[in-house]
Amino acid sequence: REFDDAALHPIMRENIRLCGYEHPTAIQAYCLPAILQGVDVIACAQTGSGKTAAYLIPIISKLLGKVKKLAAWRPNAATFNPNDPNQQRARGEPLVLVVCPSPYGGAPSKQQRLELKKGCDVLIATPGRLCDFMDQPGILSLKRVKYTVIDEADEMLQSDWEEGLKKMMAGGDANEDADHVFTMFSATFPKEARELARQYMSNEHIRI
Ligand code: AMP
Repeated sequence: REFDDAALHPIMRENIRLCGYEHPTAIQAYCLPAILQGVDVIACAQTGSGKTAAYLIPIISKLLGKVKKLAAWRPNAATFNPNDPNQQRARGEPLVLVVCPSPYGGAPSKQQRLELKKGCDVLIATPGRLCDFMDQPGILSLKRVKYTVIDEADEMLQSDWEEGLKKMMAGGDANEDADHVFTMFSATFPKEARELARQYMSNEHIRI
């Protein structure tokens, strides 16, 4: 399978070419068509396998297809009216949530809160900080999330973040949305990771 076999947005095709990626890696060959179809995916993947692009290529490709629709509900900086409560609300509502571990804790949260207020389509977060923000009113809502990626699940589960992950998984209305796509990447799949997948992955899912 090649990149051209997947139904990718033309802008994504062009960017893959600009990155110099000639052929999909094995994990990409499996993940691209599955995620594009909206299937939940559990993938056993090490760093270096091309796993980051395996989820970002199809997810960003889908977002590119919705750019006009997105612009309509998330006003750009030029048209943003800070007094309009609807516009304010839309700002802290990402469409894509990538949760991953981080070796560095305790980065100042004030700047991150300000960034969230400006609005973002793709939020990359550690479970700890994500839960902090979920606990505070008016900062972050997961209700518009259409794609949730749990990256390096085994590492996060080893680091006492199981509660945080579960809270996040259960926290969005997105979980009840049939269109919502969950993907989970992990180098190993210990019992806790399999349990998490079983509990929250509702779409027909593919194991790789
Ligand atoms: P990752 O496994 O996500 O940490 O990616 C490892 C490296 O592989 C990154 O530097 C990527 O830019 C690169 N990479 C990802 N996909 C491809 C591809 N299809 N062809 C060549 N390099 C790639």
